[in-house]
Amino acid sequence: MAIADQLAIPHPTSSIPANMLAAVYRGVNDVRLETVPVPQIGDGEILLRVHTCGVCGTDLKKIATGSHSAPRIFGHETSGEVAAVGRNVSQFGPGDRVVVFHHIPCRECYYCRHQTFAQCPTYKKVGCTAGFEPSGGGFAEYVRVMDWIVEQGTVRIPAGVSFEQACFVEPVNTCMKGIDALRLQPGETILVIGQGPIGIILSVLAQKAGATVITSDLYAERLKIAKSLGLEKTVDASERDVVKTVREKTEGRGADAVILAVGSNGLIRPAMDAARPGGRVLLFAQTQRGEVTIDPASVCVDEKSLVGSYSASVDLQEQSVRFVMNREMDLERLISHRFPLLESARALELAANPQPSSMKIVIQPGAAWSREK
Ligand SMILES: [Zn+2]
Ligand SMILES: [Zn+2]
Repeated sequence: MAIADQLAIPHPTSSIPANMLAAVYRGVNDVRLETVPVPQIGDGEILLRVHTCGVCGTDLKKIATGSHSAPRIFGHETSGEVAAVGRNVSQFGPGDRVVVFHHIPCRECYYCRHQTFAQCPTYKKVGCTAGFEPSGGGFAEYVRVMDWIVEQGTVRIPAGVSFEQACFVEPVNTCMKGIDALRLQPGETILVIGQGPIGIILSVLAQKAGATVITSDLYAERLKIAKSLGLEKTVDASERDVVKTVREKTEGRGADAVILAVGSNGLIRPAMDAARPGGRVLLFAQTQRGEVTIDPASVCVDEKSLVGSYSASVDLQEQSVRFVMNREMDLERLISHRFPLLESARALELAANPQPSSMKIVIQPGAAWSREK
């Protein structure tokens, strides 16, 4: 889709239909396109007409594992246009282009006071829904944005920035949080394992923080995209031993920090091995509970730290918005596939079975907007 289409508002915002299409999760690996009611909004709430919603690894995990009850409508990297506002909403009006966070913490509880916002009970409440148990709702034509998200988690998209670029605010925030967790020092060498869209964002952020970044992936196509975004030091893991290569590049020590941006638990051991004694390893994609074997002496004797980071941080909201809206990184380039809402099942299937050429996949209920008059 041309960017001009995403910047135009070519349709009337006043006519809100009674029903809409949505990709409804009905059970493990069962997502169906259904007609559901357009959500009703209350005081302080917004009805958002969805243009673009990114498909996130956590959506795929929920769909594949059945970790959440059905039915639900997932999708939380949502950008679109305000279609209607409830009473007492003064800061937004119909026609405004916005992106929404689906979680916002209370900032008062024990976890918030200790800056572990993702563990806050309020944060765990989802504030955006297209119907059923609130679950994001971005894979639908309209989303109800609840009052606390309107107040603190709704961000205006500046003129000239596309809905596609804007839908990266939440994923960028999660990556910034991960980089913070590693406490990178300028001049350190970082290995980022996995160059999917998230791995590439993490790599670019680490480089901006002053680190020397080495990236690795099994797919040459992904390393090519990484290179085109300024990540010069790549290791093709299909041809070379990543641990050995990283040690060679660091006088035999290993990387100061390693980021694992691939869900496979089998890569935890090589990630630990690629870190220098006293180094840190960030598990960024290990969202499934399970068990793994690690060498306890690599933590105790070699003093390597295992660090985790999950979800977004409200403390980084402004920073992530600035990064995305100022186009400090051309995030649209990470999008390899755009699917209309009608083809959301295909979109989710491709995202769950990544191909060498697939990167970020987005579902675009707004794909047809430019054809409306
Ligand atoms: Zn996400
Ligand atoms: Zn809290």
